[in-house]
Amino acid sequence: MHLVLFDIDGTLLRTDGAGREAMMRTLAAHFGRSFGFDAVSFSGKTDPQIFREILSLAGHDDAEIDGELPALLDAYTETMLAGLTAARITVLPGVPETVATLARRDDVLLGLVTGNVERVAFAKLDLVGLAAPFVHAERLLGGFGSDSGHRPDLPGIALERAHAATPHRFSGERVWIVGDTPHDLHCGRGIGARAVGVATGHYTRADLDGHGAALLLDDLSDVTPLALLFHI
Ligand SMILES: [Mg+2]
Repeated sequence: MHLVLFDIDGTLLRTDGAGREAMMRTLAAHFGRSFGFDAVSFSGKTDPQIFREILSLAGHDDAEIDGELPALLDAYTETMLAGLTAARITVLPGVPETVATLARRDDVLLGLVTGNVERVAFAKLDLVGLAAPFVHAERLLGGFGSDSGHRPDLPGIALERAHAATPHRFSGERVWIVGDTPHDLHCGRGIGARAVGVATGHYTRADLDGHGAALLLDDLSDVTPLALLFHI
């Protein structure tokens, strides 16, 4: 039995800057002024981590940021849920077919490891009909930005939830992280997970090379390399 944990942004879909816009609007509404975003890359980072970096660059100290973060994440979530539409979302090549093929197998459990807060993760997937394969025991299975701002915490959280939600037990080498950034490829090391890189985000295959992935793919248009890798 394999646990396959997908990143969302740049891996399953992209949202055409909707997250960035919602963060800018959230910060402007909360503090009554605008913030500089240009120096902050969002790729592979959790939502709380992105807020932390923007506020830190603007001169806020860690204690202030800790104090503001819960309200900011709540406001950001409401802004995203109110504004995000399916028209804004591009599902990446082959994703519906690959997800459906893996979901049909009884030796694969699908989950998520994403920096999105859980409710936003669900909204993005649900709007394009991709949520159901990731729902187990009536909840998205995964580790989310709402669980921790530190991405390397998230695979272990997803694994705990997989053990709580199903009768299956997954050893580290049967846990796979599929993502579009070096952060994704590194984040599962703590639990012995292996990684698959897909070059559908801001990173090319060459960029993703050298980060220890078991497999690098241009996109998810063919499920065969994944199936071979998982020996399923
Ligand atoms: Mg990503």
